[in-house]
Amino acid sequence: MQDCAQQPLLEVSNLSASFGGTQVLRSISFNMRSGESVALVGESGSGKSTLLKTIAGLAPKALRVDAGGIRYAGQDVLGLRGKTLRAYRCEGAKYVFQNGQESFDPLFSVGRQFDESLRAHGMRADAGTKLELLERMGVTDGERVLSSLPSELSGGLCQRVALAIALAGAPQLLLADEPTSALDSDNRKKVANLLRKVNEVDGVALLLVTHDIELAAELAPRIMVMHDGEIVESGSREEVLERPRDPYTRTLVDSVP
Ligand code: ADP
Ligand code: MG
Repeated sequence: MQDCAQQPLLEVSNLSASFGGTQVLRSISFNMRSGESVALVGESGSGKSTLLKTIAGLAPKALRVDAGGIRYAGQDVLGLRGKTLRAYRCEGAKYVFQNGQESFDPLFSVGRQFDESLRAHGMRADAGTKLELLERMGVTDGERVLSSLPSELSGGLCQRVALAIALAGAPQLLLADEPTSALDSDNRKKVANLLRKVNEVDGVALLLVTHDIELAAELAPRIMVMHDGEIVESGSREEVLERPRDPYTRTLVDSVP
């Protein structure tokens, strides 16, 4: 009998996908265990966001999966439709956008959007719950934040609120898409520390997409490198950063000052 404890949390196998006639994911395969932290690096346009969104059940309609599969906690993600897909988006792997503000509708207060998200998880949206979730993400003036429109908050604050919302339903996997790229160095440090805490203390598995090799090395013991829709290299951070085998990875590592 299969031992459930040994089952990977996420299994991506031979996943290929295209927009129109253009292939953007080329036979991607990797697994993640519960609580693991993995970084995915690669230049713009290499398919990182498409991969993360597909894992989260948020692939754009125009994307056609040509082959392969995704299993999350044993569930066939690509086979989900309608109600089960909506449930997966709430309860499955959680995607956090590159720019904190993108996570929000500009027309409605942050508090209202927080309420809607909590309700979707079947959680009670009382003020105390929200303030506590925000405080865990280092947001101490929660009441002001909740009554604000997204445009009234800084990018760094929006990113931390987006993390609080993403973590409200206690997901087992967080898919963070360049979570620090729009931030100044102070906020970058804050968000990096929060992600570390979420992974190391709360045990949430983290798949971190970043351009920032130093951030990848800081947060992830395992690094995968994507180039033109393909994972061209994957290994421990020491292997990948100190002894890169792929020519593209070598260029990426050499570009770090
Ligand atoms: P990355 O996140 O690594 O920068 P993306 O996954 O955003 O890469 O994009 C991969 C490729 O897919 C790019 O060529 C991009 O132009 C294309 N692409 C992304 N989203 C769409 C879409 N909704 N429709 C058509 N093409 C898209
Ligand atoms: Mg992207």
